[in-house]
Amino acid sequence: MTERLYYDDAYRFAFDARVLSSRQGPKGWETVIDRTCFYPGGGGQPADRGTLAGRTVLSIEERGDDIVHVLDGEPVGVEVHGELDAARRLDFMAQHTGEHLLSQCLLAAGNLATVSVHFSDDTTTIEVAAEAPPDSVLADAERRANAIVRENRKVRTRELDREEALKLPLRRRPPEGERLRIVEIEGCDWAACGGVHVASTGAIVLVKIAGVERIRGRSRIHALMGERAFADYGRKLALSQALCRLLTCGEHDILKRVGDLAESERGLVRELRQVRAAQAGQAAAEAVAEGRPFAAGPDGGARRFVSRVFDGFGEEPVKAFVDAVLSEPGRVVVAVDRSTNSMRWTVAHSLGAGDADLAALVKPVIAALGLRGGGRQGLVQGAGSDPAAAKPFVEAVARAFSA
Ligand SMILES: [Zn+2]
Repeated sequence: MTERLYYDDAYRFAFDARVLSSRQGPKGWETVIDRTCFYPGGGGQPADRGTLAGRTVLSIEERGDDIVHVLDGEPVGVEVHGELDAARRLDFMAQHTGEHLLSQCLLAAGNLATVSVHFSDDTTTIEVAAEAPPDSVLADAERRANAIVRENRKVRTRELDREEALKLPLRRRPPEGERLRIVEIEGCDWAACGGVHVASTGAIVLVKIAGVERIRGRSRIHALMGERAFADYGRKLALSQALCRLLTCGEHDILKRVGDLAESERGLVRELRQVRAAQAGQAAAEAVAEGRPFAAGPDGGARRFVSRVFDGFGEEPVKAFVDAVLSEPGRVVVAVDRSTNSMRWTVAHSLGAGDADLAALVKPVIAALGLRGGGRQGLVQGAGSDPAAAKPFVEAVARAFSA
């Protein structure tokens, strides 16, 4: 049986213990000691990290009354020393106690009952049984929580008989068991909990709701407490200062400036699209003029071969070019758009039905040049990684229409 020192003093981060057993397990050396400060995790709070017997603690598991410390090597010695990652533990103590406080304040502000909680390295999340809690309620809960942080109220833990515990205004129904560990934020919140907590609310520093996620009829409230909330403020401040420098404006003008930029960008994109469409029409007229006739088709009609290689013209303008060339019957068009490390190709025609199966015709050409693509009888498209393949591609397709 392992004595749980973390319940006697949550602020003890180093201890000495005796090794009771140790054996190689699937994940590392499973070591049981007679006493430990390492919290094994539970109630949404993760297990502690640190070192024990000169080894790194990989994970911690509860097995009956034993706490098994899984180490990255065989423990050195029998009388051993353990040391926790104190900063991480203090951080989770603040997150956890802050969660008790915020859960109580959500209840008080808007009758939002906590359904579940989770503590991650990013945020602390509280799920409440409400789809869209009003912003005003969340703001009120946050304000109430921070008022109690500033009052620096005591956080006390007591073990009580179930009957006695049930006389308290417990925030949520306690788990089964004749003895319950009750954590009280003085005069504010009472909850049965097996986690580790700070000694007074001042150590929570700050409670900040950082976002709300909607999930299946519930809401997941993300919150930051303690140093995390403070560090987050620092990051946000640095971000807003960097934006002010980039946009050469004051903090209050950032939103308007970014809105103006987005609006202007949408206008430019529209304008560019119009310019490109006009260019596509122009390019089509030129390419048709430079094109050459080839043998009449099965129906006896005149046929013309048209091609063009573009440099970074864009998918939409190339399509406009192809459509413009094919606006008259009897045409075969090859269009290639190349960039520094790729090329996209299109071959299409406006010949009669059953005339020139482009898919069959292009297949050996793209195989020889190492290109990808395919399509239907009158339109084939594809791409390749070598822009130098553009001209040989056009020449090879042209040969097929030289007869
Ligand atoms: Zn707790």
